[in-house]
Amino acid sequence: MLALLLEQKDGSTVSAVKQVSPDNLPEGNVTIDVEWSGINYKDALAITGKGKIIRQFPMVPGIDFAGTVRESQDARFIAGQSVILTGWGVGETHWGGLAEQARVNANWLVPLPQGLSSRQSMIIGTAGFTAMLCVMALEEGGITPESGEILVTGASGGVGSTAVSLLSTLGYQVVAVTGRASNHDYLLSLGANSVISREAFNDASRPLEKQRWAGAVDTVGSSLLAKVLSQMNYGSTVAACGLAGGFDLPTSVMPFILRNVRLQGIDSVSTPLDRRQMAWQRLTKLLPDHFYQQAVTEIPLDHAAHVATELMENRVTGRTLVKIK
Ligand code: NDP
Repeated sequence: MLALLLEQKDGSTVSAVKQVSPDNLPEGNVTIDVEWSGINYKDALAITGKGKIIRQFPMVPGIDFAGTVRESQDARFIAGQSVILTGWGVGETHWGGLAEQARVNANWLVPLPQGLSSRQSMIIGTAGFTAMLCVMALEEGGITPESGEILVTGASGGVGSTAVSLLSTLGYQVVAVTGRASNHDYLLSLGANSVISREAFNDASRPLEKQRWAGAVDTVGSSLLAKVLSQMNYGSTVAACGLAGGFDLPTSVMPFILRNVRLQGIDSVSTPLDRRQMAWQRLTKLLPDHFYQQAVTEIPLDHAAHVATELMENRVTGRTLVKIK
């Protein structure tokens, strides 16, 4: 089988598409013929070696994939069934989806929901799944479309763009934050009501600023998230899932103790199965047909490393799909 293999050479990560025997696949009770995978931020960190994502080499990256069961020793899955995998450390500590075959634990798999193709499921991918978890967190925080405007940071990225589309479909007023002026029309076409330049969030935040946002989906972290927190309405919720701008958070307790702001962390890797299935059902129902036509780039496996470099340089808009079969 063909696989994108990451190896260590002189302390650096090197990647190449190679023939690998399926005998080398890791332990697991379901083997899948991978049809589609994607290039996520975490994949880009792993492939370029810019983030210490991978500790054991050789490794096949690819934190998400969709495909067809080839062999199963678990009664819940049968040969020929379509499945999705995101998270669980696949593509980090366990060989991932950037290969013709993958072998995983059955507990990690979600059956492909009816009404969704495997290609569509990877247009959504880990990024879209995470966006859904963020939206669910806002709902669980009691934020409704009547509460006020919802801010989405890093809006041109995989998580941000899907969050914009989901929130807009649910009737929320969405304000997208982007560092790329060229993406304003794209974000409006996804359903954003307005777009703000990231520069507007550059100056140092005071502990509390004018209240502006009923909710926020933050994919950026660091000083941008601190600024957003200082502008949140009384009783609002922020779903924080990303660190595209840095993993620090230079803020104060003021928004929490004086404005009752809820900062909800979002992890998509270890989400329990029932919540996973709920999120996938909702994604299938909510995302409009035009979402699947927006900013999707399809590449073969041997372009994955190049796109990973572009993604690290913030030159990729939307989702990159890797066509395996
Ligand atoms: P992308 O690279 O597709 O998007 C990130 C976006 O953030 C970019 O498109 C850009 O948007 C913005 N951005 C990039 N660099 C900076 C910067 N230095 N400062 C401020 N904004 C920046 O990544 P994803 O959407 O796939 O992921 C977003 C984040 O969420 C990542 O940090 C990722 O690791 C994390 N993540 C977390 C998950 C979890 O389970 N918690 C799951 C999936 C992702 P623009 O140009 O519009 O400003």
